[in-house]
Amino acid sequence: MNDQRTRDDALRPEKAVDALRPADLEEISAELTERAGQLREEITASDEAVAALRADCDLDAADAGTKIAAAQQLRARRDEAHGLLQQTLGALDRLRNGTFGVCTSCGRPVGAARLRAVPHAERCIACTRTSEPPRSR
Ligand SMILES: [Zn+2]
Repeated sequence: MNDQRTRDDALRPEKAVDALRPADLEEISAELTERAGQLREEITASDEAVAALRADCDLDAADAGTKIAAAQQLRARRDEAHGLLQQTLGALDRLRNGTFGVCTSCGRPVGAARLRAVPHAERCIACTRTSEPPRSR
């Protein structure tokens, strides 16, 4: 039992001490790694689909419009996946260098509940709210 406690303390990053336990961090790390792999596959698949559609358009101009629209949709999804992948890789970096769970904007703890729900979150809820564009009237 004592051995377990010593091991946990050694693994515990300096920051976010109260927020997440080593077991949580391991779980989040595994989740983020898996997510990054899925997103990479999604991006590759989208790229291939767009390339195939483009080749199709050259061959058959009749329904090029439909295919261009489909390609645009695919590209939008790919960009979204790409953005998410960057956030996911950023979170994995922070896990490695011990800054995971620290808001990249204000430096305060992001909060364990938020990190469990959104492990790739870069900023705390307060900073996310203030950075949102004001609603148009
Ligand atoms: Zn913040």
